[in-house]
Amino acid sequence: MAKIAFIGLGNMGGGMAANLAKAGYQVRAFDLSQPALDRAVERGAAAAKSAAAACKDAEAVVTMLPAGKHVAEVYRSTVLSAAPKTAILLDCSTIDVATAKAVETDAQAAGFTMVDAPVSGGIAAAEGGTLTFMVGGSDEGFARARPILENMGKAVIHAGGPGSGQAAKICNNMLLGATMAATCETFVLAQKLGLDPQVFFDIASKASGQSWSMTSYCPVPGVGPDTPADRGYEGGFAAALMLKDLQLAMAAAQEAGAYTPMGGEAEELYRRFVDLGGGTKDFSGIIKMIDDSWAPPAETKE
Ligand code: NAD
Repeated sequence: MAKIAFIGLGNMGGGMAANLAKAGYQVRAFDLSQPALDRAVERGAAAAKSAAAACKDAEAVVTMLPAGKHVAEVYRSTVLSAAPKTAILLDCSTIDVATAKAVETDAQAAGFTMVDAPVSGGIAAAEGGTLTFMVGGSDEGFARARPILENMGKAVIHAGGPGSGQAAKICNNMLLGATMAATCETFVLAQKLGLDPQVFFDIASKASGQSWSMTSYCPVPGVGPDTPADRGYEGGFAAALMLKDLQLAMAAAQEAGAYTPMGGEAEELYRRFVDLGGGTKDFSGIIKMIDDSWAPPAETKE
């Protein structure tokens, strides 16, 4: 089975590499963190001594790193010189569109096929192999990347040319951040106007105010489906990661000359929430900041 170099075995990369190993790939893993590397070995990967050693003879290289500067550094200093030119390169990290395009240009100039393939879905989806991949790159790159990504996700979608995966990811998350903030302030207003949150949920979920943030991820405990709101806003999608994605969206909007006032307001709200110590809370926990006098309904869900 094909050899895959996997660089970046953190919260997300750990589960993704394990799923590739489970699918029968020879995974050669590298991370700067020894505990992360040890966990990957326990889950079927072989430890490489360096990123360069992981890339040697690889048929594919997958990276899952924190931010654009790590991706640029790892590709420019190592992957592009250590991997065989025949290897397909897949960066699954969430990074800025400009860096994604620049690294892909360098990869192409060095003779590689590369795609950006950021994910939607958190740690549980990475563990369960149910991520959604948004892929930017050529038709050939997508065709080569898809069979690998399918072992880690439930959906693999070609978003367009280089950088398009990152563009789709941050546009989606800007919409998510703005709708969640709007959903939270609306529930606060509804309750102050005397509406029962469950009754308002039943109405808005079937009316024109409906959104995923309302219907599938309701920020009010005891209302709607089971969500992080029912667990004290623990788990789920960390507010600090939402802030990171909103900052990437705002940087992209500035570069593209797009007017995004709602995205800007969402970024400001999440920055305040993170500054107040909410960074590790689920992003729906922002309802507590929007009105800290707001009290959740007493009843709990079935
Ligand atoms: P993480 O911090 O848990 O993992 C990143 C790993 O990269 C760490 O283990 C770190 O040691 C390693 N690393 C950093 N620089 C390195 C280098 N030069 N060489 C080798 N290893 C290096 O982060 P994560 O939560 O796994 O997220 C990874 C990416 O996925 C981020 O871009 C994030 O925005 C994105 N993402 C995360 C989630 C989530 O819920 N955690 C969801 C969707 C997307």
